[in-house]
Amino acid sequence: MNKTFIFDYDDTLAWNQHDYSYAQLEFLRWMIFEKLWPNAPDVQYIINLEVKIDNENVETMGFSMERFPTSFQQTYKAICKEKNIDYDEEDLKKAYEIGMLAFDEKRWEKLGLVEGAKETLDYLVEKEDELILLTKGDLKIQKKKIKATDCKKWFGKEIYIVPQKDAGVIDKIVGNRDKSKVWHVGNSIRSDVSPAFKAGIKMIYIPCETWAYEREHKGIPKDSRLITFQKIIEIKDNYNSLI
Ligand SMILES: [Mg+2]
Repeated sequence: MNKTFIFDYDDTLAWNQHDYSYAQLEFLRWMIFEKLWPNAPDVQYIINLEVKIDNENVETMGFSMERFPTSFQQTYKAICKEKNIDYDEEDLKKAYEIGMLAFDEKRWEKLGLVEGAKETLDYLVEKEDELILLTKGDLKIQKKKIKATDCKKWFGKEIYIVPQKDAGVIDKIVGNRDKSKVWHVGNSIRSDVSPAFKAGIKMIYIPCETWAYEREHKGIPKDSRLITFQKIIEIKDNYNSLI
């Protein structure tokens, strides 16, 4: 019987974290050199505060598109208050706009999929394995990303965008398939490995934990269902060991 591969998208099939870094750098530049000079706090202070606020906002706003630019607004407000500097609606609007730089379709198109992804997906299609795409995040943003990188080509209608990826969601997708032949492929222990194991399926873990949110975990679980690869192409190169 053929295998089923449930692929994660962000930082598994396409690099995504540095979309946010790009916006963060612009935010720092704007705040320090355009708005608060010479009273701006140092870069590290601002970025630590922004990351802290954004992490807290995951609790209330989840993985919505609005969360990240809202965190920029809140960071700007908080620093102005600390420094007793006036701010107005225009400043907050600008902070939000800079946050929105993280969602640039042209950039997604230009970057495409990670190295080796196309070759790996083509290979799995050739093997007649079943391919499913499962990504958490904002519906409209994820749709645009997936379109920009033409993922329909491999996944067809089997594309699921969910607000949060948990064991229940995976379980529903797996349905009555034989769980010993279903693999989740993802980059994060917190967002991919944990829910996959809870749902009772196998895991190909390709670490890329560049976001503070993803680094909150207790390390790689010791579990015989887990295989760690450094690059996506290793799925193709080690295909026969996936049993
Ligand atoms: Mg991911």
